[in-house]
Amino acid sequence: MIISMGSHATKEQIEQVCDRIREFGYKVHSIQGEERVVIGAVGIGDVTACLDQLEAMPGVESAVRISAPYKFVSREFRSQRTRVRVNGTEIGGDDFVVIAGPCSVETESQIMRTAEAVARAGARLLRGGAYKPRTSPYEFQGLELEGLKLLRKAKEATGLAIVTEVMSDGEVELVAEYADILQIGARNMQNISLLKALGRTTRPILLKRGMSSTIRELLMSAEYIVAHGNPQVVLCERGIRTFEPATRNTCDISAVAVLNELTHLPVLVDPSHAAGRRSLVPPLARAAVAVGADGLLVEVHPTPEKAFSDGAQSLAIPEFEAMMQSLGPYLKIWRETRVAEGAAAL
Ligand code: PEP
Ligand code: MN
Repeated sequence: MIISMGSHATKEQIEQVCDRIREFGYKVHSIQGEERVVIGAVGIGDVTACLDQLEAMPGVESAVRISAPYKFVSREFRSQRTRVRVNGTEIGGDDFVVIAGPCSVETESQIMRTAEAVARAGARLLRGGAYKPRTSPYEFQGLELEGLKLLRKAKEATGLAIVTEVMSDGEVELVAEYADILQIGARNMQNISLLKALGRTTRPILLKRGMSSTIRELLMSAEYIVAHGNPQVVLCERGIRTFEPATRNTCDISAVAVLNELTHLPVLVDPSHAAGRRSLVPPLARAAVAVGADGLLVEVHPTPEKAFSDGAQSLAIPEFEAMMQSLGPYLKIWRETRVAEGAAAL
């Protein structure tokens, strides 16, 4: 059950609602939204009687039953898209948002050159890994704090907001000092302690789908973050592991359409990790626009052949510029579709 309190609900009214929910044997998760408090109740009890009573209580705007196992992130809970605001950019809103940058932050000149180039080409946020979850312990593990400091410099120089990965709950506070969005990598999608810690931060979260995770598991992980207090979650399809070896992963483009039905959260596509090969990135990026994603996460490097990680799938700067150009006609249709969708919802 989800209980939305009216915008003028008092603390006492909220407390009374929580007490009544507990009396019915449910567990309470409340989240403080921008305008109102929303209370989630989970467990086993007499739903119909509980809903009837709650709806009649002072301060309650609505009380509804959500059948999906994920509650706060489901479309049943909220039919309108969630817009996640980052430094003046809205993800999930009226603009398609491109996030670009190198897999790893390597040197000052590398991150500065990339940041300036992607900003010029139309990217709205800069991505770069400082803490890298590498498959092999012998591969480059990232510059860590030094990398975060370089990202801050790049932000100061370009105004681009920063997206960077956090790998453990103990590092959330530190990374959040430097990042505008915290990225959770595929390998950590079900790191429950980390998800709970993300619920307690005020930064938005970019949650990547695990390479062997179902859409439902992705939504349950998002639910952890929201149920623990942070409603600003952006999802990212980054390719899943299948029997097909021609690409690094299989870009599950249909996941975007499915997610758009099941959740109000924004959905990005990462064509770089999905493809594993730079020639495939622009066509997959166009597919992401066409299917109705909210944006892209793309790896770009000034000299991909010398990259410390993921060089084969990184676009060189002129290739990124060309890709951005090629998206133009698709973005026109994307905007028209969004406007029509907004008008239909009124
Ligand atoms: C990355 O974004 O560089 C990364 C490691 O991605 P993923 O977690 O999707 O493998
Ligand atoms: Mn990478």
